[in-house]
Amino acid sequence: MNQEILISAKGLKKYFPVKKFLGGKTQYVKAVDNIDLDIRKGETFGLVGESGCGKSTLGRTMIRMYDVTGGTLTYKGHDITTAKPSQMKQFQNKMQIIFQDPYSALNPFWNVEEILEEPLKQIGMNSAERKERMEYLLYKVGMKSEDLIKFPYEFSGGQRQRIGIARALSVNPEFIMCDEPIAALDVSIQAQVVNMLEDLQNEFGLTYLFAAHDLSMVRYISTRIGVMYLGNLVEVTTSNELYENPLHPYTQALLSAIPIADPETARKRERIKLQGELPSPMDVPEGCHFTPRCPYATQRCKEECPKLREFDKGHYVACHRVENVN
Ligand code: SF4
Repeated sequence: MNQEILISAKGLKKYFPVKKFLGGKTQYVKAVDNIDLDIRKGETFGLVGESGCGKSTLGRTMIRMYDVTGGTLTYKGHDITTAKPSQMKQFQNKMQIIFQDPYSALNPFWNVEEILEEPLKQIGMNSAERKERMEYLLYKVGMKSEDLIKFPYEFSGGQRQRIGIARALSVNPEFIMCDEPIAALDVSIQAQVVNMLEDLQNEFGLTYLFAAHDLSMVRYISTRIGVMYLGNLVEVTTSNELYENPLHPYTQALLSAIPIADPETARKRERIKLQGELPSPMDVPEGCHFTPRCPYATQRCKEECPKLREFDKGHYVACHRVENVN
């Protein structure tokens, strides 16, 4: 695996203020809280966790769609933590995003030509170059040049996502935040889109941060996977290791909930049921944030937040119970 680090977060924080009425104190939603993460050139780093765990916010903060609250962020060794829009220009084309909902991500009043042409104008392509590039992009995502004159409402969800992918690719990016790109698609289309993303990655040497709910699909596409819980990474390792040897109780619970097609195997599997709901990110529990839902919680867990530590080569876990086993 290529070890060159493309994008690196150290102690990254993204808090959103929530103002209280009548002079109450401002509270903060700690969507991303003290995350260390290096993403290597050419890899697909999968991010999993329940809705509201901070996957999208982490990805969007890493490409500087959001300002950083704390910590540092570097892209190819350049510190972009507090870079102003004028300083970010040289990196913006290199970092793109594919959104979850392809319909709301596309301007409904623009046809495909206008959607794809806008970023190409910004990088100074002339009319003939733009035309050639747009036809090439559509070909790459399995669409036709005749589609240029059509509007988003004329396409299926899968086709709209292909247009979103073509737009992200238009400016030759190196890093793409795939923000649940298959969640809104029909199951039959999901595999097609994931296979296409893999082909594009191989052809253009892309690096992906791939956030998703579907754990089977994340395993299929990812080189390494990070499990997020309430704004923290609680386990990081290679895709195969995570599925074969999950160590954090939250990861074990997530994996035990993946549907199994074979009823016999499904009957034999032990299902770990999580207690309660995901707590509010405005009011995170003291100590380990997973304490209220963890079947193994101890007094120490209530008092001390475990750090993400390397348990085995390349396998990182934040859990006191795992520390003890080691
Ligand atoms: Fe459970 Fe304690 Fe580990 Fe947190 S630190 S996951 S509460 S055992």
